[in-house]
Amino acid sequence: DRTVADATCTACGCLCDDLIVKTEGGRIIEAVNACEIGRRWYFADHAHEGLPAATIEGRPVEPTVALDRAAEILGQARAPIVLGLTRTTTETVATALAIADRIGAVVDPDTSDGDRARLLATQRVGRVSATLGEVKNRADVVLFWGVDPVVTHPRHWERYSVEPHGRFVPDGRAGRTIVVVNASRTATAERADQFVPVAPEAQLAVLTTLRALLRGASPDPGRVERTTGLDLKTLRGLIDRLKAAKYGAWFYDARLGSGSGGAARIEAALALVRDLNSFTRFVILGLGGPGNPAGAEAALTWQTGSPSSVSLTRGSPRTMPGVTSAEALLAGGRADAALIVAEGELQELSEAARAHLERIPRIVIGPKATAPGSAATVGLDAATYGIDAGGTVMRSDGVVLPLRPPLNPSTPTDREWLQALETRIHSHVS
Ligand code: SF4
Repeated sequence: DRTVADATCTACGCLCDDLIVKTEGGRIIEAVNACEIGRRWYFADHAHEGLPAATIEGRPVEPTVALDRAAEILGQARAPIVLGLTRTTTETVATALAIADRIGAVVDPDTSDGDRARLLATQRVGRVSATLGEVKNRADVVLFWGVDPVVTHPRHWERYSVEPHGRFVPDGRAGRTIVVVNASRTATAERADQFVPVAPEAQLAVLTTLRALLRGASPDPGRVERTTGLDLKTLRGLIDRLKAAKYGAWFYDARLGSGSGGAARIEAALALVRDLNSFTRFVILGLGGPGNPAGAEAALTWQTGSPSSVSLTRGSPRTMPGVTSAEALLAGGRADAALIVAEGELQELSEAARAHLERIPRIVIGPKATAPGSAATVGLDAATYGIDAGGTVMRSDGVVLPLRPPLNPSTPTDREWLQALETRIHSHVS
């Protein structure tokens, strides 16, 4: 029985690293400081009892047999892809990348169109950013755009953005102005100082109008109302409020980039925040998804120069948005084998992409990858990061955090499986 202090919860993008997790008889019995979502994560069934360590086509086999089969599939594939990677440690991502490099695969942790749009927009415009610690200590105006952290990131409000007593915001909540822009009055909007209703299809018009107002333009009020659904006075009031901040922090997420015109919306938001810095200090941060998407993107960038959709098929990294993405390769029927590490966001793939994925051999490494009903060609059951597997993850603001798992692993970690696979692949690469 043990008590682990400063454990890091991976159940949402907050990655709270102040949990105290108690165990008894090899089970977690308490997760102090965790919110409801965090408690659900810690108290979920993470046990491996009764599961085979390895399977081929659903049949339990010796791990060495499964690893040999996986190495054979990947070593002989002409167009392999490596997917998942967002629900595991950064160290595991680096190991998966070494395999991808060896077999000449396409690596793509970001399978949602919103994430792809976010990355492209950030590359085109740049992003004025900061750590959450800086936001906590300095931000006196906080804008939540199209997000509802009170529901999705329950401790964001108390830990980082609204309630903390910061060095230059000693009064905490009382010293901050909170603005919410969203389609409807969310739980976060209920607790904000100002709520501005903006329909999803009007977001781009609102962002570009705000930017025009910031630059001193005098747009036609009728036209503004038609395109944004808001009167000019409201938008002037909003931009004045943002300009008057001593330090402003803007929070968004990948939904801003989802659907048609997503990249343009994110570019407009990034450009507006950049321009606000002519008047005051303003930063823009993603709320971050569950797990370690930032770590996966960072590891890819460190090793290949690009955060997603990287093709290693020609011996050097190439990225062509829309061509080297997992979605394009799968939907176009070109991928012929997949290594899926910690399944992550695969539900974001289109129906056509998922249908092709089901037709090709899949090596799945992750917690419960060998459970009955798993569709893996080769399944390798792995310990769960933050529960019985250690390592580091990266918060959306780039801060690296150790996991401090409360339980000892009773099955290999995904990294250990990958290392064993890598040594075998050498003899199979054709
Ligand atoms: Fe876990 Fe997120 Fe809740 Fe923090 S806010 S305890 S990271 S689920």
